[in-house]
Amino acid sequence: MTQQVKRAFKYRFYPTDEQAAELSRTFGCVRYVYNWALHMRSEAYALHSKNVGYAETDRALTVLKRQPDTAFLAEVAAVPLQQALRHLQTAFAAFFDKRAKYPRFKSKKKSRMSAAYTRAGFRWRNGQIFLAKMNAPLDIRWSRPLPEGADPSTVTVSRDSAGRWFVSLLCEDTITPAPATTNAVGIDAGITSLVTLSSGEKVTNPRHERRDRARLAKAQRELSRKAKDSANREKARRKAARVHARITDRRRDFLHKLTTRLVRENQTVVIEDLTVRNMLKNHKLARAISDASWTELRTMLEYKCAWYGRDLVTVDRWFPSSKLCGACGTVREEMSLNVREWTCECGTMHDRDVNAARNILAAGLAER
Ligand SMILES: [Zn+2]
Repeated sequence: MTQQVKRAFKYRFYPTDEQAAELSRTFGCVRYVYNWALHMRSEAYALHSKNVGYAETDRALTVLKRQPDTAFLAEVAAVPLQQALRHLQTAFAAFFDKRAKYPRFKSKKKSRMSAAYTRAGFRWRNGQIFLAKMNAPLDIRWSRPLPEGADPSTVTVSRDSAGRWFVSLLCEDTITPAPATTNAVGIDAGITSLVTLSSGEKVTNPRHERRDRARLAKAQRELSRKAKDSANREKARRKAARVHARITDRRRDFLHKLTTRLVRENQTVVIEDLTVRNMLKNHKLARAISDASWTELRTMLEYKCAWYGRDLVTVDRWFPSSKLCGACGTVREEMSLNVREWTCECGTMHDRDVNAARNILAAGLAER
């Protein structure tokens, strides 16, 4: 009863100077094409109520490459530019489906730089990757093995704000189902602890995070003191980006272990739908990071539950999980965030988060 799934395997790599230059040029062209096509599609819709699709943008791109002013687009690999048009198509589809906001222009400073190569854009030979327009293979650090006989269908190259290069290989992988169980767990997204489980277990933040956060705050303070556009500012920006990257890497690693365990141990996993929380602007560092990890945790639970044949149940976000007594069903009118323990009129003493996790579990099981 194994299952085939598409899965991305991400590694660091170290480009040669030529590769770095070629990729930087390609990233620039990818962003250019994406923005150009977004503008074209938006304008056609605004001025003529006309819906321009992928095929039309692809034809227009061929014309664009022949114009003297934009001939530079013909100098980089063609596949990543077409993929940019496909990504835009996906963004529009999500928008029309009401799953996402209207696509936004990619900015040079804020957007992640990446280029995607489908099979026509790379060669995979003897465990090495040769990208179009490059003679040497990528120097990849294989931190974990690819699945047996892996044959990547898409290769995505990116560079993060700390200046590190990554390559992500999309491969078919075989998933072996997890052992049968009837266990169920409710998960409460915490602020003091990362998550609290209905079993009473509190999962705290990964080791080193407190120290890393202090370092990040310091690096950001230093960055804010540097003069704009100065060389020192760029150095400070890199440093802050490196600390931030380390926090998110450790978090991701930690979340992978946690979600794999939760999905292996339980047939049913119940979570709260907290998407609305992410829409609230919050500049507090701790909150921003915990919101980001909640989104990531949820995404991981979604695909791992699908892989292993488990049920993920989402409870409505207006459900008063913290204020409801799990023993007698009384709902308290008010409870401020700093109340960690409380006693209900019925005499039951509650740990706020454990009670919330249990209520989420009960609501999830009742919904099914
Ligand atoms: Zn009670």
